[in-house]
Amino acid sequence: MKSVEEINKRILSGEAVVLTAEEVVKLAKEEGVKRVAEKVDVVTTATFAPMCSSGAFVNFGHTRPPMRMEKIEIEGVEVYGGLAAVDGYIGATQESKHDKSFGGAHIIELLIKGKNLRFKAEGKGTDCYPRKQFEGFINRDMVNDFFMFNPRNAYQNYAAATNSSDRTIYTYMGKLLPRFGNVTYSTSGELSPLLKDPKMFTIGLGTKIFLCGTEGYIVWPGTQFRNDVKLNEHGIPISAARTLAVIGDAKKMNPRYLRAAYFKNYGVTIFIGIGVPIPVLNEEIAYYVSRSNEEITTELRDYGKAGRPVIRLTNYAELRSGWIEIEGKKVKTSPISSLAMAREIAQLLKKWIAEARFTLTVPAKLFDEHRSLKGLEEVKEAEKFDMEEPTCVNCGMCVSVCPYDALKLVNDELSFEKELCTECGLCNDVCPVGVKLPPL
Ligand code: SF4
Ligand code: SF4
Repeated sequence: MKSVEEINKRILSGEAVVLTAEEVVKLAKEEGVKRVAEKVDVVTTATFAPMCSSGAFVNFGHTRPPMRMEKIEIEGVEVYGGLAAVDGYIGATQESKHDKSFGGAHIIELLIKGKNLRFKAEGKGTDCYPRKQFEGFINRDMVNDFFMFNPRNAYQNYAAATNSSDRTIYTYMGKLLPRFGNVTYSTSGELSPLLKDPKMFTIGLGTKIFLCGTEGYIVWPGTQFRNDVKLNEHGIPISAARTLAVIGDAKKMNPRYLRAAYFKNYGVTIFIGIGVPIPVLNEEIAYYVSRSNEEITTELRDYGKAGRPVIRLTNYAELRSGWIEIEGKKVKTSPISSLAMAREIAQLLKKWIAEARFTLTVPAKLFDEHRSLKGLEEVKEAEKFDMEEPTCVNCGMCVSVCPYDALKLVNDELSFEKELCTECGLCNDVCPVGVKLPPL
């Protein structure tokens, strides 16, 4: 048994033994899991794959005179502006109004590269934010804040895809040729972060990671996180399971480790580079980090049929061999994620740790509560809802508009003295939560 604190001491004194997940698989084959537990302190894992559920928050800074930006556009790509005055969220898959092969992912990449981008904003104009329009250019260094926040990255596993139908189909798994013409798959197999700590013993809220060339953090279970899927004989989920929500300073990111992309007839997406260090705290963790591509199972699904039925199970060694057999036919396989980039990230993270530039964190919380996935059911009848009669939250906003002291805060709670009220009506329109004033 080791602790993260002990490993960090070894990292800082330059004594830590750090191996990439591929190197540890080799070591385990040669010397066994027990030896891995004794010898290795940290295993670096990585992935570089299209991760649609990504984006970035930007604070653009205030214009003069100020405006409340409600409709925002960068190079023809809509930026979500429902976040108060000058904050926006660039969703990676948001397409440009002019060119469907260009979108939010490209805006994020270009901003990280320091380019000047055409920026437009509109607002309705208010007394405190009178400006209604702004047009100009922005770049990474001009904006106050620019941080990536990706709600769902680094899927623990993902089904390989093929197509039994008679036509070519275009999907987020790429172009799938008719009649089982090809197979595509994602994840970096034995290098993939959540496949190496399948129960997430060491990865949780606050875990420091490599994110697109800089330090990032895990901030929540990613959307569509589930841990109720079937496991193989090695205790590894055989289908899409856990995911991560991650955050990092986009101003410090290296454009080499992310890439905007367009999948024909599907849309814009973004390759994200993530590396996660796994501390080898005990023999159980050593066992999981040592599992090889042969021991990591995934499903092969038919995207040419409704419901994408599972055709068979496969593993990452078979998928990586370049060929797979389907109904007696030898079918070519190819990844949609880059193993070369994943390897580079795992090596780079290893170097950072070996040089004591990156230490490990203890998660503030592990994501071990049971979770399954719900589908969205179509509801045919409109559900009626009535807003409840608003109640006072004691914000006090009405107090200063009452010239007769009928409204007061007494011990921080609203008090109304009916006798003092002249029913002048000045308080009628001030309550932000809709309490009818004066409260007669
Ligand atoms: S009545 Fe409305 S404005 Fe006045 S204190 Fe309560 S919540 Fe605030
Ligand atoms: S209506 Fe009554 S409570 Fe409201 S501002 Fe006038 S005096 Fe004050």
